[in-house]
Amino acid sequence: MITQAPRGTYDLYGEQVRKWQSIERTIVRLMQDFHYGEIRTPVFEHTELFQRGVGDTTDIVQKEMYTFLDKGHRSITLKPEGTAGAARAYLEHKMFADPQPTKLYYMTPCFRYEKPQAGRDRQFSQFGVELYGSAEAAADAEVISIAHELLKRLGIRNVTLHINSLGCRDCRARYNEQLKAYFESYRNDLCETCLERLERNPLRILDCKNPECRKIVEEAPSVLDALDEECRSHFENVQAYLRGMGIPFVVDPGIVRGLDYYTRTVFEFVCDEIGAQGTVCAGGRYDHLIEELGGSPTPAVGFGAGIGRMILAMEAAGGETQTSSPLDLYVGSMGDKASIEASSLVYRLRAQNISAESDLLGRSVKAQMKYANKQGARFTMILGETELETGKAALKNMESGESRTVEFQNIQEWRNQLS
Ligand code: ATP
Ligand code: MG
Repeated sequence: MITQAPRGTYDLYGEQVRKWQSIERTIVRLMQDFHYGEIRTPVFEHTELFQRGVGDTTDIVQKEMYTFLDKGHRSITLKPEGTAGAARAYLEHKMFADPQPTKLYYMTPCFRYEKPQAGRDRQFSQFGVELYGSAEAAADAEVISIAHELLKRLGIRNVTLHINSLGCRDCRARYNEQLKAYFESYRNDLCETCLERLERNPLRILDCKNPECRKIVEEAPSVLDALDEECRSHFENVQAYLRGMGIPFVVDPGIVRGLDYYTRTVFEFVCDEIGAQGTVCAGGRYDHLIEELGGSPTPAVGFGAGIGRMILAMEAAGGETQTSSPLDLYVGSMGDKASIEASSLVYRLRAQNISAESDLLGRSVKAQMKYANKQGARFTMILGETELETGKAALKNMESGESRTVEFQNIQEWRNQLS
């Protein structure tokens, strides 16, 4: 018998799933307020979509994807992130023909073959936002403000927003040359992976976690000095919008992001209290992605936030989550007839959005009440012979201990007392 979930996966239930539900509800409400529409794309896509959309040289495509041949011998990949699928759908459904910008959000499972550790799983969930059709700094700032507001609503205050600009393609090419020249002189000290990066994409060296490499990186030229006039001005505008919204940030030239497609703005919300995997939310602008996937040039900006990491940050912040699952009323019963009556009453209450339970195990009244207590029932009622005869029963407030006699069939008359 298999009694263990695959490595890097987990089950959510009880208290933990209630935390997730609470975040999911907060997100749905948040996205109404920002006026973004939800998009749900398949869990798997053609492998090529991620090779092109995420980038062939990224860790994700090189090492982390769950790729397999299906029975029709097509190469299929479980989505490692949410952006590529959303961008594919944007093109497939010609959303560019709608009034622009297109504002989308998703909550989706993602799959990456990584070494599992705190905050790093093989199946995890991302909340993400995609804004297509605007190249303006206002769009970058709006997207960042979504993440800021979400973390605020979740009570996650122990995070810092880091922003940076990677410039346009030209700036980036220029900067990569500068980096190449700089890192060449440290050939003997760089780790093996970074030597490879030096050939393919020197920018990626800035992201290396190896302590030796980190030391060399500290003295590396800053991308901000390599920006041309337009990119510099865009970045300054983003900052002006953020200041206007009162969103604190630090400019951090060390933020380069793992994906190939970023241009200009990149950002991360980092929590120092949840260990090495401190990035709860990461994103930026990717003005060439849509083109890369075969569309016409379309600017885009967005982010992905790991829901699991947000929960770790919430727990670290001691943030309030409304995680109790309130049971308004438990209707106990004695005997077969009363049991039918209790179940009918509970059914009618539920139809009026009152959470209610009755006995399903034929237990004694004493055992039923013990169960009601464990479930944290706010009110209880017991139906027996006398109650059925008189049509009256005691509605007991479990917190105060007070009881009131009510005509239990006449729900309208007493339901207000439950709230
Ligand atoms: P990291 O530096 O942690 O590997 P990344 O650059 O690979 O992150 P992105 O691809 O930008 O991450 O994904 C966005 C967010 O998704 C991350 O900031 C994180 O919150 C979450 N995330 C990424 N990978 C995992 C994972 N394996 N397990 C849990 N959450 C993850
Ligand atoms: Mg990663």
